[in-house]
Amino acid sequence: MPNITRQMLRDYLHDALPEAEMAAVEKALRGSPDLRKLLDGERDEEDRGDHTVGAIWRRERVSCPARDQLGGYLLGAGDPDLLDYVEFHINVIGCPYCQANLDDLRKLQGE
Ligand SMILES: [Zn+2]
Repeated sequence: MPNITRQMLRDYLHDALPEAEMAAVEKALRGSPDLRKLLDGERDEEDRGDHTVGAIWRRERVSCPARDQLGGYLLGAGDPDLLDYVEFHINVIGCPYCQANLDDLRKLQGE
């Protein structure tokens, strides 16, 4: 049996898997009552609504600020609303992509 992760099940529920994986999940589900239970669990969890910021971010795909906006944030320059947004994105949502980008920019500025 291929390794079906919870993330794959979630993507399966959202029709977000590539066709080959979709078929693999379906096949695995047919062969495994345990996996079907897991899928039901995932569905329930989604129905209840996962309201953590991270989940909302993943669901809504809140967009990442552009690199020059991150640069502005480091300097404290720019539209205050935008700075608030970046602050939220970095510190509350904790977007790993933007944190890495910000670290990178800090290094550049330090040189
Ligand atoms: Zn981001």
